[in-house]
Amino acid sequence: MSKSGKADLRYEAANVDVLIAGAGPAGALAARHLALAGRLVLIVDRLRPASPRLGETLPGAGVRLLVRQGLGSVAEAGAHHTPVGGSLTVWGSPHAMPSDALRDPYGPGLRLDRAQFDAALRSACRAAGCSWWTASLQHLQRDESGWRIGLDDGRYVRTRVVIDATGRAARVARRLGVSQQRTSELVAVYRIAHPTTNTDLSRTVIEATPDGWIYAGRLADGRWAVGYHTLPKTAVQVRQSSDLWAATLSAAPYLRDCLGPIVWAEPGIAREAGGIGLSVPYGDGWLAVGDAALAFDPIAGQGLFNALRTGLAAAEALLAATPSALSAYGAELARVAAIYAGRRAALYQAETRWADRPFWQAQQQAAILAAAPAVG
Ligand SMILES: Cc1cc2nc3c(=O)[nH]c(=O)nc-3n(C[C@H](O)[C@H](O)[C@H](O)COP(=O)(O)OP(=O)(O)OC[C@H]3O[C@@H](n4cnc5c(N)ncnc54)[C@H](O)[C@@H]3O)c2cc1C
Repeated sequence: MSKSGKADLRYEAANVDVLIAGAGPAGALAARHLALAGRLVLIVDRLRPASPRLGETLPGAGVRLLVRQGLGSVAEAGAHHTPVGGSLTVWGSPHAMPSDALRDPYGPGLRLDRAQFDAALRSACRAAGCSWWTASLQHLQRDESGWRIGLDDGRYVRTRVVIDATGRAARVARRLGVSQQRTSELVAVYRIAHPTTNTDLSRTVIEATPDGWIYAGRLADGRWAVGYHTLPKTAVQVRQSSDLWAATLSAAPYLRDCLGPIVWAEPGIAREAGGIGLSVPYGDGWLAVGDAALAFDPIAGQGLFNALRTGLAAAEALLAATPSALSAYGAELARVAAIYAGRRAALYQAETRWADRPFWQAQQQAAILAAAPAVG
């Protein structure tokens, strides 16, 4: 409200071509691409202090995508992001299988400081002319002239198109009644670690254990992120008990020997990590991008690439402004979902040492369901 008590429309409403809900990598890339093409774009995101996203790696293909968009400076190794030299994976046998980033045709990935990475992408959006409101999308209504979107601070926005970039929550699509399909149950508990040996190792270490799998990777500041991926019930227990956490690590002999005695920083952070996707990723006047459209089990290591790629592809489909461009966008997502389901199934089926344990049974059940044709 202005001092006179009248509504000041400059600040209480907006009329834009595209409203983007969510300023993660998917929303930021879509917003920038549309703004550079001359569209009036408003991003809304309250950026509530979320749990830090520890140890996430942008694959080499993601680095290359950003370079091609003129955003190479966002993904440069340095004080915030560190190159990943490959991986050491203990899965299906007690022996570590090495992989070298030099063999990756896209080059090495980058273990990110996510807060810094996201902030750099948002700066690039602003530089391209996107407007920004610190607010959350709360409700939306459609009429003959487009959408009327209500925000949690009482403001509203009129727009022809809304992009759902709200991550796994898929706020827009779910408000429109679109269903989400969960393809696997998984929760990740992450902690910061100070190992005592191999502290400079640039490779990611992944080890399967009887009740889940563990990820460990060095951050640019020298600390390590260690994540345990398991069933939701086990995650709750492990997060609350340092004895259980220690027991979890002792079930990973390769990792234990590799990193030596570890000093742990408190507390553990839990994140939902199972696969989930929308039954349809677009409709009349809306599209979903990134995790909102399709979120992967982190073993895929492709979430960030998918967020950047779908942000860009959705913007291109909107600029093309034809029904076939939108259906091509939907078809690409369906293809990616099918490839992901096949690879994930093969990977979990390759670990047979604990076939009687609930974690591996649940993952293999999910793999069978993903491969089965829908009935009815
Ligand atoms: C444990 C774990 C480990 C992972 N590791 C990796 C990895 O190593 N490599 C990799 O590539 N990927 C990894 N991922 C996946 C990666 O985190 C996601 O794929 C990526 O963050 C998706 O980006 P996004 O822009 O779609 O969504 P997000 O980054 O989730 O951004 C969504 C944004 O929407 C905003 N928002 C939410 N609701 C509203 C609303 N109502 N109104 C407005 N804004 C809203 C949020 O504040 C947020 O800023 C991992 C995921 C998990 C769970």
